[in-house]
Amino acid sequence: MNEEGPGDEISSQGGDPGGGGAPFDPDAVHAKYLAERDKRLVEGRAAIRDLTGDGVFARYQDDPFTPFQHRDRIRDDVDVVVIGAGIGGIVSGAELRRAGIAKIRLIDSAGGIGGTWYWNRYPGVMCDVESYIYMPLLEDLDYIPSRKYAFGDEIRSHLERIAEKFDLVRDALFHTVVERSEWDESDARWVLHTDRGDEIRARYVVMAVGILNLLKLPDIPGMELFKGRSFHTSRWDYEYTGGDMHSPMTNLADKAVGIIGTGASAIQCVGPLALSSRHLFVFQRTPSAIGERNNRPTPPDFAQPLGPGWQRERMGNFHSVLDGQSVPDLVDDGWTHHEAKVWSPRFEPGLSPEEFMLRAEEQDFEIMEQHRRRIDQIVEDPEVAEILKPYYRYLCKRPCFHDEYLPAFNRANLTLVDCPAGIERVTEEGLVCNGRAFSLDCIVYATGFEPEVTPFPRRAGHDIVGRRGVRLADKWADGPATFHGMMTSGFPNMFMMPAPGQQSVVTVNATFLNVEGAEHIAETIRLLDQRDIRIVDVRPEAEAAYVDGIVGSFRDVSAVMEACTPSRLNNEGNPKAMNPKSGAWGGGRGDLFGWLHMLETWRRAGDFEGLEIS
Ligand code: NDP
Repeated sequence: MNEEGPGDEISSQGGDPGGGGAPFDPDAVHAKYLAERDKRLVEGRAAIRDLTGDGVFARYQDDPFTPFQHRDRIRDDVDVVVIGAGIGGIVSGAELRRAGIAKIRLIDSAGGIGGTWYWNRYPGVMCDVESYIYMPLLEDLDYIPSRKYAFGDEIRSHLERIAEKFDLVRDALFHTVVERSEWDESDARWVLHTDRGDEIRARYVVMAVGILNLLKLPDIPGMELFKGRSFHTSRWDYEYTGGDMHSPMTNLADKAVGIIGTGASAIQCVGPLALSSRHLFVFQRTPSAIGERNNRPTPPDFAQPLGPGWQRERMGNFHSVLDGQSVPDLVDDGWTHHEAKVWSPRFEPGLSPEEFMLRAEEQDFEIMEQHRRRIDQIVEDPEVAEILKPYYRYLCKRPCFHDEYLPAFNRANLTLVDCPAGIERVTEEGLVCNGRAFSLDCIVYATGFEPEVTPFPRRAGHDIVGRRGVRLADKWADGPATFHGMMTSGFPNMFMMPAPGQQSVVTVNATFLNVEGAEHIAETIRLLDQRDIRIVDVRPEAEAAYVDGIVGSFRDVSAVMEACTPSRLNNEGNPKAMNPKSGAWGGGRGDLFGWLHMLETWRRAGDFEGLEIS
């Protein structure tokens, strides 16, 4: 196994959870965690600017990377329209090609292939899931990523190559927004209208709109007043900053820059920003838990022992480790060390439920202590170190992994601003936090994306109208209702890529879910075509039974999550409001292998049980 695996830096102070560190005093820990939570549980913390039709802020979504080109409107009739050209859309397209589908149109609002990897080009952008399991179809492309964690441009180029290989680019429509999808029963077609005046008819539609597609701007008083430059991390303004993803942003040498947010995006770009700016102010509401990254080039002999199917096996292995199974840890990183222990705690048998909960809490505490000690080891100023320490359970927030973020706080040109209650307001000159004004030339919003549980119809960004004129947004007004997490009754010939909050399963490696979902959808369409079936819909009773299964296995963990610092994982401090219909197959985060087995068995049976076909 890898001898330099993440976690070693903290093991110098106690090794894997269980050794060394501060003793676990449950009452003291609860009191500290709750006090830190309460600082952040302020009213309106989750308020966002709704960019739909927002005259002032809609520009934050504009594409700074590819010039808009005029084209004639299109009217045609294809086999499948795939909405979205990110990983989900591209692997869907690839699998549909493999299934023999001839006419496929990808449609995306971006100017090219890549989805989240098209938009996110901020300095330092990198995937924090191992590239060998995250970058899809490596075996098809005969490609081995250059390092364990790939930078964004390598991922984007790889996705472009997949799209070329499977001939998905020629017919793709970029800078095109679908405004309405409507089922036409008379013709057994979906009819899609776009903002470019297109009318595209399709036998099938695959919604691969992604889960990080709606950039999130907080609603801070005065945002429209700021006279300097401001942008979101997912639309990096290199025209203003100079430089690029890998080279210094020379235009910032005389600029004071403020970055709002300290999540997965911010921690990757703070280092490069600090190197380039005259001064960088990091406005932190909640500190992230930053584990070691230990990125490294792919060893020259990496591919040597790999046989056919190695990538899918490695993806499965990663999830098995997170599931707590006793298998070799091939990926061997912070996810498999820490997240696995928290997801799937394993203790000696015979513990009572109370003892189990206490042991799980203690283990979580020890993992967090390791993260806090790491900060003390790296950050020289004890006051700054204290502000950077995350005081909550590891399971409360998505963990981060980075090796250059914490050292940046030792730089003289970086100031950490502690604002647990959030930014107070924006002024013409800059930001105000805790009553103190900061004068800035530039504000970077590293404030993330609308959460996965954002209702799918909103993420799809347009009206989806099924049989008898029913809008999906209305049908799902009180939560999703699906069959297998990929189809919904009354919307024939429509598939949705599986996604968290949508009755499939939750995974750390979203690519795994995309690849499996794409295969299921493509194989289902292939089987339907083989039998000359023109219309396929979900039987209402089959959908009801599937939804009952989801709701019935929903585990109410609100008691634990309520004590968490507010985050999207606990519905911003309101876990009781979590909708059981947004749960996963098998309860909790879902039983991924059970779900995949169920899908495969269903496909193999070949009788389309639960579907109404004509
Ligand atoms: P996040 O949602 O993780 O972080 C947003 C940050 O903005 C948080 O620190 C948040 O504080 C802060 N914030 C939001 N509103 C305010 C406000 N009003 N005042 C002050 N601070 C505010 O967004 P990211 O873009 O960092 O990441 C989003 C997701 O993207 C990740 O969860 C991950 O799924 C994905 N991602 C994945 C990467 C990868 O390598 N695979 C890399 C980057 C992103 P608070 O924490 O208090 O809410």
